[in-house]
Amino acid sequence: MIDMHLHSTFSYDGKAEVEDIIAQVQKLGINHFCITDHYEYENGKLVHDFNVEEYFLTMDKFDLPRGAEISWDGVKEAIFPEGFDYLLLGVHRYDENLPPDELARDYLERTLYVMERVEFHTLAHLDYPARYANADFKANRDLIEKILRFLVAREKILEVNTAGLFKHGKPNPDYWILEMYWDLGGRFITIGSDAHEVQHIGRGIEEVMSKLRRFNFEYVVVEGKKLFTKKLR
Ligand SMILES: [Zn+2]
Ligand SMILES: [Zn+2]
Repeated sequence: MIDMHLHSTFSYDGKAEVEDIIAQVQKLGINHFCITDHYEYENGKLVHDFNVEEYFLTMDKFDLPRGAEISWDGVKEAIFPEGFDYLLLGVHRYDENLPPDELARDYLERTLYVMERVEFHTLAHLDYPARYANADFKANRDLIEKILRFLVAREKILEVNTAGLFKHGKPNPDYWILEMYWDLGGRFITIGSDAHEVQHIGRGIEEVMSKLRRFNFEYVVVEGKKLFTKKLR
């Protein structure tokens, strides 16, 4: 099993100590994992403290890749530090006061804007607002297609985030979006639980992977400091 989206106590909202994450993945038989702590820019500044220096030292000490989930609201400037091995791009901002179709549209437009301007490997949890709000992504297939085509053209990776299963019963993105990605030629995906506590590590991953079997995707993992693809069944 793999779990490529985990938060430790280096994240403002993470409750799992790095040592405890390592012990838990061993216990669960997860052979590839990556800690991807929050590095979030809003309105031109870091929203939460992230001690990057200490983080790098800790990852190096345990011989783990230096991963991050970077975020940017698209306002003012965002500066991301050098030296990370793996960058997940997570867009978290949406306007919950908008009607469902506009909420999704606004979120997707922001996602596209950010994707075009930030360096990253993997797009995290596309359709993220569906987890918390009434958002109509089906009404915005055109924009979703644009985002997926962008990923395919640049050989970026689409993440399947299983945390949504425990909020609204679907992974992020939903299966129909993953099917669309496949149909557009998307082959690289990765999967992560987005666990913020030890008990959530690996949650939902086997369930979602079994549903994706028919597509024959290549799963991307980080080994040492490099990205590799794996055929997982
Ligand atoms: Zn996120
Ligand atoms: Zn996350």
